Order: sequence, then C-alpha cells, then structure tokens
Amino acid sequence: MNHEGAKRIVVIGAGIVGASLAYHLASKGAQVTVVEAGGIASGVTGTSFAWINTSCAGIDPIAALRGGAIAAWRRLETQVPGLTVRWHGALSYGTQDGRVSPASIVIDRAHIARLEPQLRRPPQQAIHEPEQGALDAVAATHALLAAAQALGATVRTHTPVLGFTVRDAQVTGVETVAGLIEADMVVLAAGTGTASLAEKLGASLPIHASPAIFLRYQAPPGLVRGIISSHAMEVRQAEDGTMLAAEDYVGDSPENQPAAMALRTASAIRDELEGAQAIAPEFAGVGLRPMPADGVPVIGYLPQVGGAYVCAMHPGVVLAAIVGQLASGEIVDGQPAAALDACRPARFLAC
Ligand SMILES: Cc1cc2nc3c(=O)[nH]c(=O)nc-3n(C[C@H](O)[C@H](O)[C@H](O)COP(=O)(O)OP(=O)(O)OC[C@H]3O[C@@H](n4cnc5c(N)ncnc54)[C@H](O)[C@@H]3O)c2cc1C
Repeated sequence: MNHEGAKRIVVIGAGIVGASLAYHLASKGAQVTVVEAGGIASGVTGTSFAWINTSCAGIDPIAALRGGAIAAWRRLETQVPGLTVRWHGALSYGTQDGRVSPASIVIDRAHIARLEPQLRRPPQQAIHEPEQGALDAVAATHALLAAAQALGATVRTHTPVLGFTVRDAQVTGVETVAGLIEADMVVLAAGTGTASLAEKLGASLPIHASPAIFLRYQAPPGLVRGIISSHAMEVRQAEDGTMLAAEDYVGDSPENQPAAMALRTASAIRDELEGAQAIAPEFAGVGLRPMPADGVPVIGYLPQVGGAYVCAMHPGVVLAAIVGQLASGEIVDGQPAAALDACRPARFLAC
C-alpha cells in the first residue's frame, strides 16, 4: 500500500484493543506502527475468558456501543483471515446480577437439558442468549495484527514506550527503549499501562488494574456446548476440549490463590457436569483488567495535547471490534461517533 502523505499513527499496546485499532486504522490507509512492551497478547488479553457478552444490568451509558458489538465482530469475521468467533450462545442462572441483553429469552428445564445435556441438575429456568459467543482472544489478536501487517502496518514487540516528544502542544513522536518513532498521532491502547502513559502527557486518568482469575483445564471434549454462567461456575469449552473458566478475585490469602481456586472450581465443575471427572488444571493465573473508575470506557482525544487518543476499557473483548471501527473513523476520517460520547477522557480532566 502506498502510504505517501498518510497519517503516521503509533498504536501503543498489542492486546485485542490495540490490534483491532491497528487493523481498522490500516484499512483506512493510515501508516500504522504498533509498539508493544512484551509479546503479542501478553497483557490481560492472554488470560481472558473472552465471552462476547452484551448483557448489562440497569441503565447502560454505552448501550449503543454494546448494541453494535456483535455485528462488528461478525463483520470482522468476513474481513480478517483466520478470525473466528464461536456463536454458541450463553446460559445464565442463579447469578442474581440481573444482567440481560435485548435478545435474551427465559427457557425451561427441558430446553436447558437439550442445550447442555451434560448438566447433572438443570435448573428450572435459565436466561438463554443465543446470539452471544466467544473467541480465542490470543488467536484473534494475532489474526487482527496479521491483517494490519498485510495492509502495511509494522508491529514492534518487546519495545516498551518510555515517553513522548511534544512540540507546540502536539505529539510529534514516541520514545521507546529502541529509539524515537516519529508520529502525527499516538493511540494509547496499553490496557493497565494506559494511565501512566497518559500521565506523561499531563492527563490523570483513573484507570485501575482490576484482578480476575483465569483458569484453563484439560478436559474431554463435549462437556459444555456454549457458555454456562451459574452460581457454581462460569465455563466454556474449546473444540479440542480445553475448558476455560473465570472466577472473581477475592483476595490473596492462601486458599484464594489461583492454584487453590483451580482445584475448587474443578470440584464444582465435576459436581455440575456428567463426565467431567477427568478434568485437570493446566493453568491458573490472575489477569489485570483496565477498569475506569466509573466503569465506562475511556475513548477519545486527550484535551491537553494534540494528537493523543486514548482507548482503555472493560469489557475489552466485547468492545474491541466496534471501538476499532468507530475510533478509526474519528482518527482518520474526522467523523465523530455519537456512540462514544459517554466515553470521553475529558470527563475526568479539569480544563
Ligand atoms: C479472567 C478474565 C476474564 C475476562 N473475561 C472477559 C470476557 O468474558 N469478555 C470481555 O470482553 N473481557 C473479559 N476480560 C477482560 C478483557 O480480557 C480485557 O478487557 C481486554 O483483554 C483488554 O484488552 P487491551 O488490549 O485493552 O489490554 P491488554 O491485553 O492488557 O493489552 C495492552 C498491552 O499494552 C502493553 N503495554 C502497556 N504499557 C506499555 C508501554 N509503556 N509500552 C508498550 N506497550 C505497553 C501491554 O504489554 C499489553 O500487551 C477478562 C479478563 C480476565 C482477567
């Protein structure tokens, strides 16, 4: 692709959010460089349950974003080689968090048993969200970055960003351990590293690291067909049988360490599912989610300095595709997206 005269955009972070941005920006003709401190998907994306869960409890300030999330992933599946989402639906019961999506339906025990025949004790009722799915977040990040590279983007891993060069209140470059990269625009998609990078540009953004536990098991294939989210377990299974589970982080006492949680959750899974006796923990770890103080994504330009755009959010897997689409429209085409209005960084920043 001929990039003469194209905007030079540095995307900091090669997680699923940065990868989606890189792909969308490159497909609009920008000259994109992705700079990543570690390896591809080495941040929280590498330990994500990766459920495309568009449910929300109560009034949702980002209803328009969430509402476009599934269509955006479906579009990307047709555009990005190797990107696949398993649209197997999700069942929820007994969680009492009141989260529902517009497409949810209440189903009875017989229906639940047909959907998930290995459940030993199907509940009387469950919420079924047939339109939802999940993806392999690491594979999706690689696929998006490969598609961005095919459009001319460069990906530089193991290259931490140290700071920025700014001239006349405009970002002119990104300082890395490997030297300066000149840029017309920088996108901070650095997950829990976003706040410290924004700080270097004079913006104090309250984005905290919120821990959650990620568990992976070897398991016989065919135990779980979709996603099951209940009081006892939140699980899904890949085609090869690998079972994934997510748990809340409840503290760092010995009984709540990831390895102990993996054993406890394995017992719960064996108790809930017929044929699960052989499941064996393979990985247990804590992932740190970038969580804005008000829970609403932080997406948009920093007001203090020109050429700096922030993209930090939870749930990042749900939103990566739609945010990549809308943010790239703002950055390259100058088309403001009303769906991002509630997300602006300026809400945290005194003028
Ligand atoms: C157990 C668990 C379950 C989850 N389940 C879901 C789910 O079901 N659905 C969902 O949507 N979300 C889920 N999440 C959250 C989801 O994983 C995150 O929202 C998403 O992965 C965030 O992606 P990201 O690209 O913003 O961040 P990251 O993947 O962390 O990427 C940011 C990257 O920036 C890099 N970086 C940071 N600082 C610098 C620097 N100075 N220089 C260069 N690079 C830098 C980091 O190395 C990192 O690779 C879950 C998380 C956990 C832990």
